[in-house]
Amino acid sequence: MELKNHMEIVVDRMLKVFVEKDPNICTCENCILDVKAYALNHLPPQYFVTEKGEVYTKAKDLTIQFETDVTSVLVQGIEKVKKHPRH
Ligand SMILES: [Zn+2]
Repeated sequence: MELKNHMEIVVDRMLKVFVEKDPNICTCENCILDVKAYALNHLPPQYFVTEKGEVYTKAKDLTIQFETDVTSVLVQGIEKVKKHPRH
């Protein structure tokens, strides 16, 4: 079994959408991980246990459920990293 965080799946999914829409977001590993870390530090974790390797199909529903919260936190994180990228 494996421990996973719903919120991380949602953040990953939505961050991808933001990056595709905004060409000004730096997509290097550093910046993407900084935005992700910022977002996950400002959102409540939602842990669940799953079979190892199982594809988590509810991620889409969860994206909708947490969309407003995740959007506002991601926007803050992206702005922060844009102003002070670590490179
Ligand atoms: Zn960068």
